[in-house]
Amino acid sequence: AALQELLLSRITDVPDYPKPGVMFKDITPLLSDPAAFGALTDAFAELCERHRADKVVGLEARGFILAAPVAVRAGIGFVPVRKAGKLPGATLGQAYELEYGTAEIEIHADALAPGDRVLVIDDVLATGGTADASVQLIRRAGAEVAGLAVLLELGFLAGRQRLQPGLQGAPLEAL
Ligand code: 5GP
Repeated sequence: AALQELLLSRITDVPDYPKPGVMFKDITPLLSDPAAFGALTDAFAELCERHRADKVVGLEARGFILAAPVAVRAGIGFVPVRKAGKLPGATLGQAYELEYGTAEIEIHADALAPGDRVLVIDDVLATGGTADASVQLIRRAGAEVAGLAVLLELGFLAGRQRLQPGLQGAPLEAL
């Protein structure tokens, strides 16, 4: 409860971003507070241990910022999932639906090995589209999804419900 209060106190609401009617949750105040960022990193690292993860996947772009220190703290490798066209090596891609049109994410085809247990980290779970695509991508890359962990879950967008089938029983943790 103390952790939740600290984290929530460092996330601010930005109205009408990125478009009118949307209330954007800005995590940059949290990143600039070493006590809050450190506590968040510790909490994610504990989830790595609890779910026996041996790789951390961060989702571009804020997921990179959160997941990289977790990988170091937990003593396990970091693997990026990027927007299409950004990774230099051979990739696997996964398309998913946006409100208007589609998007695609990619992972290096050789980044994960069969039997790897992956904890996926992102900042905010909104509709769940990004997270759902990343879970599918990780499985296609041959690894097991140990769990999905986010800083903030926007419950009113029902991302958790959308993710349920794809998670196949893997835990969804919102700090
Ligand atoms: P979803 O695919 O769940 O609809 O959207 C999640 C993705 O969009 C995440 O990668 C997240 O970074 C970004 N996102 C959506 N809404 C917000 C928000 O209010 N604040 C932040 N920081 N990111 C958001």
